[in-house]
Amino acid sequence: MECVYNFSLKELQKKLILKGFSRYSAKQIFAWIYKERVQDFSLMTNIAKDKREELTKMFYFLNFKTLKKEKSKDGTQKYLFQLVDQEAIEAVLIPEKQRNTLCLSTQVGCKFNCKFCASKTGGFIRNLEVSEIVNQYLQLSQKDKITNIVFMGIGEPFDNFKNVVKSIEILTEPAGLNFTNKRISISTCGLSDKIKKIAELELGVKLSISLHAVLDEKRNKIMPVNKIYPLADLVKAIKYYNQRQKFPVTFEYILLADFNIGGQDAKRLAKLVKTTRAKLNLIPYNPTGATLRPPEFAKIDNFKKILKKENIIFTLRKERGSDINAACGQLRSVSLGGSKN
Ligand code: SAH
Repeated sequence: MECVYNFSLKELQKKLILKGFSRYSAKQIFAWIYKERVQDFSLMTNIAKDKREELTKMFYFLNFKTLKKEKSKDGTQKYLFQLVDQEAIEAVLIPEKQRNTLCLSTQVGCKFNCKFCASKTGGFIRNLEVSEIVNQYLQLSQKDKITNIVFMGIGEPFDNFKNVVKSIEILTEPAGLNFTNKRISISTCGLSDKIKKIAELELGVKLSISLHAVLDEKRNKIMPVNKIYPLADLVKAIKYYNQRQKFPVTFEYILLADFNIGGQDAKRLAKLVKTTRAKLNLIPYNPTGATLRPPEFAKIDNFKKILKKENIIFTLRKERGSDINAACGQLRSVSLGGSKN
C-alpha cells in the first residue's frame, strides 16, 4: 500500500487510469482528499462502490502522532510530530496580525552543519517523503487558516529538491488545496545549482537565501556549505534567478555579536543587495548552544544606521517563540537531548 498524499493530481490520474478509473473520477477523488479532507474512501459517494473498495486496497492516509505541542506567549505554536520510523520532525505555526505562517520541515536532521542552527543535532537521517511534507500542512490547517507557507523548518529544502517541488505542486493544485504559490517561500543555505534549477521551473514561489556573512572567510566559518558554493558562485546563481523570476530574492542575515555586524560588514552587505535584485531581512539570533551570541542593542543600531545611509531597505524579523525553542530544529534537538542554551 502507498500513502495517497505522495501523489500529485497528474500522478494520481496516471495511476488510476491504468486501473480503469476515468481521468475525471481521479480528479474527484483528489478533491475528496484535499478539498473535503476525507480520509476514508468509502465516504467518496460519487465514486462507484467497487472502485472505492479498490482504492481502499491501494492507498492509506498518513496521520502523524503529535509527540509534543507547545504554545508560546506570543501565540507561536510548535508541533513535534512522530514519523512511522519513530523519527521526529517539527512544524511551527506563527500567527501575526494579517497572516498565519506555517513553517515546514523537509528533512530529518540536516547535512549542512551551520554553526548557529539546531537542525544538525543527531546528524542527517533522511529526506522527508512528499506525504510527510504535505501532512504537516494538513494537520496544522485543520483548526487554523494558513495564509503563508515557509520552507524554513528542519532540513535543507534544496537537498530534497524533487519532493519539495512535488509537495508545492500538491499544495497549489487548484483541484485540491489551491494554496497561492506566491505565498510560499523556500529558504536555502545557498545550493547554487538548485537555485538555477528552481529559477527555470515556473513555480511562482519566492526564494530566501540564508546569507549571514558577505566574505568567504567569514561565511566558511559559520556555514561549511560556502566551501562548496562560495559567494561568487552564489551571487551568479542569484543573478540568474533574478533574470528569470519576477520576485526579488530575500537575503536572511542573522545578527551575530563580534562577527558580522561591523561597519565593513554593513557596507559589503549593502553592496551585495544593490548588485542583485534582493530584499534584506535581518534576524535576531536565537541562541542554540554554539559559541555565537546575539549582539548588544547599540551595535545593532549602528549596523542599521549604516545600511540606511547606504539606502538599503530592510526588515528586522521579530523573534518569535524563543520561549518554546521555536528556532529551526530546537524542539527536536532538545527532545534528542541537545541543549537549548
Ligand atoms: N536550510 C534552509 C532552511 C532552514 S533554516 C536554510 O538554511 O535557509 C531557516 C532560517 O532560519 C534560515 O535563514 C536560518 O539561517 C535561520 N536560523 C537557523 N537557526 C537559527 C537561529 N538559531 N537563530 C536565528 N535564525 C536561525
